[in-house]
Amino acid sequence: MITIQGKGVSAGVGVGPLYYYRRATTEIKRYTVEDTGAEWHRFKGAQTGAVEQLGQLAEQARAEAGDEAAMLFETHQMMAEDLDYEEAIEDRITNQKMNAEAAVADTAEQFAEMFAAMDDSYMQARAADVKDVSQRILSILCGVVQGGIASDVPVLLAADDLAPSETIQLDKTKILGFITAGGSGSSHTAILARTMGIPAIVGVGDALKPEYEGRQAIADGSTGALVVDPDDDTRARLLKKREEQQRLQRLLETLKGQTNVTKDGKTIRIYCNIGSPEDVHAVQVNDGGGIGLFRSEFLYLNSSTFPTEDEQYAAYKQVLSDMDGKEVIIRTLDIGADKQIGYFDLPKEDNPAMGMRALRLCLTRPEIFRTQLRALFRASAYGKLGIMFPMVTSVWEVREAKKLCEEVKRDLKHEGIPYSEDVQIGIMIETPAAAVNSDRLAKEVDFFSIGTNDLTQYTLACDRQNNDLGRFYDPHHPAVLRLIKLVVDNAHKNGIWAGICGELGADLALTETFLAMGLDELSVTPRAVLPLRNAVRMTDTRESAERLLAELDADYTAR
Ligand code: PEP
Ligand code: MG
Repeated sequence: MITIQGKGVSAGVGVGPLYYYRRATTEIKRYTVEDTGAEWHRFKGAQTGAVEQLGQLAEQARAEAGDEAAMLFETHQMMAEDLDYEEAIEDRITNQKMNAEAAVADTAEQFAEMFAAMDDSYMQARAADVKDVSQRILSILCGVVQGGIASDVPVLLAADDLAPSETIQLDKTKILGFITAGGSGSSHTAILARTMGIPAIVGVGDALKPEYEGRQAIADGSTGALVVDPDDDTRARLLKKREEQQRLQRLLETLKGQTNVTKDGKTIRIYCNIGSPEDVHAVQVNDGGGIGLFRSEFLYLNSSTFPTEDEQYAAYKQVLSDMDGKEVIIRTLDIGADKQIGYFDLPKEDNPAMGMRALRLCLTRPEIFRTQLRALFRASAYGKLGIMFPMVTSVWEVREAKKLCEEVKRDLKHEGIPYSEDVQIGIMIETPAAAVNSDRLAKEVDFFSIGTNDLTQYTLACDRQNNDLGRFYDPHHPAVLRLIKLVVDNAHKNGIWAGICGELGADLALTETFLAMGLDELSVTPRAVLPLRNAVRMTDTRESAERLLAELDADYTAR
């Protein structure tokens, strides 16, 4: 039996064989081929395989998101069989005696450069498509499984690290748990794992050895322990723990349909954070009162080119309709930092967390922002929509974003397209600048939603992705808690509401403090709704926020 200690970032016990994530490799071997006929044949086989995969993806997309979504994959099918593309590959194999991998990689580069150099922005965007199609063919040639899991049975998925786009594309029915060598508790992969209710452990480092693949293991997402080849006693103990957790879950089920009212009669809204329309199911199952944060960038991460206005509109409309009149707050694009997307062609930055991300990017490339805002306002006709902007630091940014909203509404009106006039506009408070300036920002918007993951990162100058920083990244730091109180006070003084949508909202050790501060809403991962409701109902808020903060401050300082 081998026990590996990491950091548990999504509770639950997962039991099954360990399996290592297969990443499509970009390392292309180059060699001269003698039998060019056989090599051409090898390419043709991979091309056929890619076309078949794309056909299946098109069908899946049609069933889940309609004809327009399916078209993307059908376009890729056509590209894979495009005659010019095929001839360029044939020339490299037959005349230059290149191996198929090198021929495909070089042709992809040549075509991508050609598209990128065109004047028309639609054609420029095809550069990403040709790379994507070629990557699919390359993956088949290299024997790498696209999508990461080629196992018939569900597995504990191990990886060095997982990008958000990789996590979201995985077949979740095949995953019993995540174990990553790197990563941190507030990374987006950890957040996704919690949303999906999958146990996850990060930061196990090089203790996770490739030779463990296929061996039975147990991942305990609450303690962060991964046990490979568990002995009988350990197995029995952890299975009992799993049973216990399931029993607790059944108990929490009895809280469904109940109110979020404290013992002394204070009410708070408990909403959910989601990343895709499919997550609405988890919101409903866990009885979330609304959606306090829809991370819309996952629509972009899950696509190989810019999602169109219609694709976005369909997704937002679906969430609003499925939520049936309950409030849905959609955050505008928050790309950059740890969420990088190739087709945005963003220049490499030394310091991406402090770089061209989120609202900064949207204001710099208003054509991308406008498309999203049009989709959002069009969808607003189907429910109770709130829109919020991430990574705000200044009043002028908010004014500029609001001006674009007004322009989009004016255009829609002109075009006779319906939208709601009651859309609430809010901002995320994620930077110390926004928190300190919240008295002035409150005059510009309808609500604040505090993003404690980033607020902690920027206040403490501590990279949220860096697991080595461990205890230095601590949202219980008095500076973070005092900023939260300042933001809530400034919101209320100016007659607007304030909530938390960062991970800290679900921290039960702070529920009493948040209630005492007067937070109006906590938006948490769906599985945290019922435990949080339970905590709210057990709380008596007679202690003042100041007193509770002083106690927390003393605890923190005494560490
Ligand atoms: C946050 O920063 O707290 C937040 C909710 O946004 P994200 O985690 O997506 O950066
Ligand atoms: Mg954030």
